[in-house]
Amino acid sequence: MGDNFALRLKFWGVRGTIPTPAPSHMGYGGNTTCLEVRSSDGVIMIDAGTGARQFGTHLQNEFNGANLNLHVLMTHFHWDHIQGLPHFAPLFSPGNKIIFHSSRPPEQIRGILEGQMSDPYYPISLNYLPAQRDFVDICSNPFRQFGIAAHPFPLHHPQSATGYRLESKGKVITHASDLEHGHDKLDKTLREFAQDADVLIYDAQYTPNEYSSWKGRGHSTWLQATRVARDSNVGRLILFHHDPNHDDECMTAILGEARRHFENTDVATEGSEIAL
Ligand SMILES: [Zn+2]
Ligand SMILES: [Zn+2]
Repeated sequence: MGDNFALRLKFWGVRGTIPTPAPSHMGYGGNTTCLEVRSSDGVIMIDAGTGARQFGTHLQNEFNGANLNLHVLMTHFHWDHIQGLPHFAPLFSPGNKIIFHSSRPPEQIRGILEGQMSDPYYPISLNYLPAQRDFVDICSNPFRQFGIAAHPFPLHHPQSATGYRLESKGKVITHASDLEHGHDKLDKTLREFAQDADVLIYDAQYTPNEYSSWKGRGHSTWLQATRVARDSNVGRLILFHHDPNHDDECMTAILGEARRHFENTDVATEGSEIAL
């Protein structure tokens, strides 16, 4: 892929809740959420689920000894969004700087990330890792790096989550995971931040049938995803945060159904890329 792009996106992890390293699930992917977003000037990461392990190794090879300055946008801190971090190679290299952005106060972000790497859960404290780390409240420090502006917005989810509208050179990607529909105010906010986006990435964990059993768990459906895509006039819808019980066959069936409601729909697949 050449350098002629405003925004480029790669999915390193697309699964919700827990990794699914089973042959029946590998067509779409087994790692939990991690996205790479690039402009021609630099790279940012969204979330650090288990997909972050492979992405981190890739970054280390790409930078090959040069210092990496990586900004990480965190949606929230449920396990499936942080579990790759203790195995994220750039943290183990002196000279690298990793800056974590979240809608929480800096000391809280630090405490949460240190928590998952503390005794007895992990052998090495985050404090002992050689890369420099920084923690930023994105709500009071607007994000603009490498020509990419990231506008945070609140999502309806247990303990809350943050969505991001990413803009660069007139192109827009809206990332909305994790969320449950049915909160009037936040449903409206989501549609505003998704308005006219080229790409909308949406938490479509459940089928409409399953949703009746899982109401209140913080996730949405492919049907709601197509409604938001239509209401907000988005160019392309990407279904994301796949349920661990949905094997490849099930995901392909979901894709077919969703396309009947919003034609330009795809299912996020581990390793796939989008260039705008
Ligand atoms: Zn999740
Ligand atoms: Zn969550």
